[in-house]
Amino acid sequence: MGLIVQKFGGTSVATAEKIRAAAQRAVAAKRDGHHVVMVVSARGKKTDELLTLAAELTDAPPRREMDMLLSTGEQESVALMSMAIQELGEPAISLTGGQIGIITDSQHSKARIRQISIERMRRHLADGTIVVACGFQGVDDEGNITTLGRGGSDTTATALAAVLKADECQIYTDVEGVFTTDPRIVKGARKINTVSHDEMLELASLGAGVMHSRSIEFAKKFDVPLRVRPSFSDGLGTLIAPHGEEHAPVVTGLALVRKESRVTLADLPDRPGVMSVIFAKLAHRKIPVDMVVQNVGTDDTAEVSFTVPEDDLAATLTAAQDAIQELGAGSVHSGTNVAKLSAVGDGMRSHSGVAAQMFRSLADAGVNIEMITTSDIKISVLVNRDDADKSLQTVHAGFGLDQADARTPSIGYRQSPSVPTTEGSLESQVVGSLANMEDLVVSDVDLDERQSRISIHHIPDTPGVCADLFEAVAEGDVMVDMIVQNISRQGSAEVSFTVLRDDIDRCLLLVREVVSQWEGAELSYDREIDKLTVTGIGLRSHTGVGEMLFRALADADVNVQMINTSEVRLSVVVGADRGQQAAASLHTAFARSDEQ
Ligand code: ADP
Ligand code: ASP
Ligand code: MG
Repeated sequence: MGLIVQKFGGTSVATAEKIRAAAQRAVAAKRDGHHVVMVVSARGKKTDELLTLAAELTDAPPRREMDMLLSTGEQESVALMSMAIQELGEPAISLTGGQIGIITDSQHSKARIRQISIERMRRHLADGTIVVACGFQGVDDEGNITTLGRGGSDTTATALAAVLKADECQIYTDVEGVFTTDPRIVKGARKINTVSHDEMLELASLGAGVMHSRSIEFAKKFDVPLRVRPSFSDGLGTLIAPHGEEHAPVVTGLALVRKESRVTLADLPDRPGVMSVIFAKLAHRKIPVDMVVQNVGTDDTAEVSFTVPEDDLAATLTAAQDAIQELGAGSVHSGTNVAKLSAVGDGMRSHSGVAAQMFRSLADAGVNIEMITTSDIKISVLVNRDDADKSLQTVHAGFGLDQADARTPSIGYRQSPSVPTTEGSLESQVVGSLANMEDLVVSDVDLDERQSRISIHHIPDTPGVCADLFEAVAEGDVMVDMIVQNISRQGSAEVSFTVLRDDIDRCLLLVREVVSQWEGAELSYDREIDKLTVTGIGLRSHTGVGEMLFRALADADVNVQMINTSEVRLSVVVGADRGQQAAASLHTAFARSDEQ
């Protein structure tokens, strides 16, 4: 006899008929001899309706009261579900987050789970009762109701599966499984049979709404066997597992965030510690920052641009003003007419030319790229929001994701020597020592002393330039590692990327030829830079990581030249003479944070 957690999303419990169908699944699993825990979301659009209702009363609803309100949606669902199961002849009991003992911190509307008691659930399960748990909610130490963030029922489900050591956590939803991209936007999107934890973590965090990204953190940390399945058919859905399919395509999927905003802090003093002040202010307000690009100005001033979800823009601008006040210099600029498109795939670790392929597809569709950042398994670009759907369609087709065998023949193949793989055993040691279930996991700090950097300034701001550049590099079989690009406020683009020191001369030859066609463009390079990589789980969504990193490096008087963020890896480029010292200070900073 095994233990199964079954989670049903809003559309899968929208009507009495659908509730009955979900109840039948739980009953069938029970009659197959399993213990069953159900996790249920609010029915249909209930959460949205409650949000609208509150907005009719106030522009700034108190967050505690908002959680009190939103949690009622799930309470309604569990009661109805328990009735439906009992009607089918099996014992069931509905429980709120508080009744189960899901203890969270007090961050209303984005609370993180600290602990979950299993006694009550175990007792009911031992009696043969189906436990029907409210998704999305918990209580803090004072007993206040908290919620985990939109889509958070997935996280409740994987967290319960983790503490109960379930044999499988099944996420029932309104699509056949995880697709190469949102099937509602791209008709040719295909279902993926197996996706790796890292890929799903990135896809979810970069906007693939099918799973709450924090649920994948649990699945990865606590080895929860996880499957996304259709609630309307018997399809097998998608397995989310430590590794994806063997012979999987280089790019697994694409994600889009339509409502992203870009913020630039300009005219900043150019000295260590400046970034640390900015990121501390953002972390203080729990703002998840993505796509960070720093430009060193020509006149001893520095500039940093980053993206945040549009919902966090107002808080971000306040934080940015605070930072500028503390620094005594700087100006803040922002733009909202942008969307973020990301390509994700474990295969990118070892293939060259993926970025070039993505940039070419966009260029062919006449889309201008406003910003680029990469990490080892993802590439993100910022485009005009009006181009969002077109960009998604064209990149999806460009990677051949709508085809049965999506391996794109034009992408060169080469094993990357520079990227360390995650140390599984180290990671489980770190997880084993966590004080709270949802604490950040940092498992390694790696120093790579084999990299060099090439930068090109004053590039024309027109579609196709990055495609030409990175195509030339890929055709020369040079493996590019980090890429950052941004458009300066003066209207020209700047791009920097890293390549192995052994490849730099070959790469410069290729790059010079392309750059010579662009009037006014300037090439600079650094033969020896060091790259530091912090590996872990939840590095971007735990908003304090950037702050810790910048603080540690500022304390060691190390200037950060480039930065790339992702959920599982955070990389920075520093001067070659500073690498050892920077690595030592990161080790100390992150080891200290583990002990807290
Ligand atoms: P639930 O209410 O079951 O939690 P959600 O609406 O949260 O369902 O998630 C399912 C939706 O996610 C789908 O209807 C689909 O439109 C959207 N979606 C976005 N990206 C993807 C993807 N890569 N694969 C599948 N569905 C996706
Ligand atoms: N009902 C919540 C929401 O709509 C939680 C969830 O559905 O997962 O966001
Ligand atoms: Mg959902």
